[in-house]
Amino acid sequence: MVPRSAPIRTVRMDGLSLEKVSHAFGDLLVVDDLSLSVAAGEILCLLGPSGCGKTTSLRIAAGLERIQAGRVVIAGREVARPGKDVAAEQRGVGMVFQDYALFPHLSVRDNVAFGLRGPAAEKRRSVDELLERLDIASHGDRFPHLLSGGEQQRVALARALAPRPAVMLMDEPFANLDVRLRDRIRDDTLNLLRQGSAATLMVTHDPDEAMRMADRIAIMRRGRIEQMGTPDDLYRHPANKLIAEFLSETNILHGKVNEKGEVETALGPLAANGLESGLEVDIVLRPEALVMDGEKGGLAATVHTVRPLAGWTVVDLRLPANGTALRARCTCETPPSPGDTVRIHPDPAGTFVFPRDRH
Ligand code: ATP
Repeated sequence: MVPRSAPIRTVRMDGLSLEKVSHAFGDLLVVDDLSLSVAAGEILCLLGPSGCGKTTSLRIAAGLERIQAGRVVIAGREVARPGKDVAAEQRGVGMVFQDYALFPHLSVRDNVAFGLRGPAAEKRRSVDELLERLDIASHGDRFPHLLSGGEQQRVALARALAPRPAVMLMDEPFANLDVRLRDRIRDDTLNLLRQGSAATLMVTHDPDEAMRMADRIAIMRRGRIEQMGTPDDLYRHPANKLIAEFLSETNILHGKVNEKGEVETALGPLAANGLESGLEVDIVLRPEALVMDGEKGGLAATVHTVRPLAGWTVVDLRLPANGTALRARCTCETPPSPGDTVRIHPDPAGTFVFPRDRH
């Protein structure tokens, strides 16, 4: 069942746009009136819970899934609407999907050279350069089935990047790489995509990856985009609890707005930011917004555990008054020790109050 959409307005642009796209598998609506545009040179990350329709949206853009409603425009050319589906290989897009889809009968080098045109010497040079950059030069003559998952993933990336596509579609393209390799391959891939002014739509499960890579992030839930913006916008102004939770670890408190426009919480009264009295709310508190500064006015908390983690110190706390467990993160030069009592207070910049999310 696909809902009927309002008439479609044409937007002409260089990159990629999905306009009012809906898609159902049987009775299950998995993409619901989704519109987004990616400009040339831009990287847009689709982020959201498992099953929210990210991969299906990407497959529709790629031409791997027949479109049911809405349309897809690539470089100003309509490539899909109901009744019209330009074949995937004629859309001029590079793709890296989770199955890699490498040609089993071709060597790594020939897989990467597959979509290239032009003189043989030039093709060879650009293939060698890509294999080198993606750290698979020593596997050039091997066949895909002899490679590990992470190596196959890099061959798929090299093959997609080789023709310098105007539009790049990637589904978890770095998921199989170990952490050390992932950072470097990701940076190199991004540089290549930006140099080539590709419009890139990328699906990821990893919020850190999205925050780090994306010019904009679109957060999806149940087939719809809940919020789209720069990583900074989304981090500072999340529209709801799901979005705040997706972008970092959080502490969640619950409460009800009182007559004074405050919410009584385990941390004491917090401003309800204009929400109406009587409303049940979720309070989302980022760990770095739980400030441990020793101020006398703060609330006493007992340090439970202390762990160093990638430039931060993560401190798990308990409130002696009510046993509430909270997580704080600081860049403190002298971190507290387990058993210490610290004084904490929430920084309003990382504290968000939303009507209770029942989903
Ligand atoms: P994940 O992050 O787990 O990869 P996703 O957000 O990419 O999830 P999709 O793969 O787009 O989600 O799937 C959306 C929903 O559609 C899921 O419930 C999935 O089971 C269902 N689905 C996907 N492909 C098919 C199919 N070919 N037939 C039936 N249902 C499908």
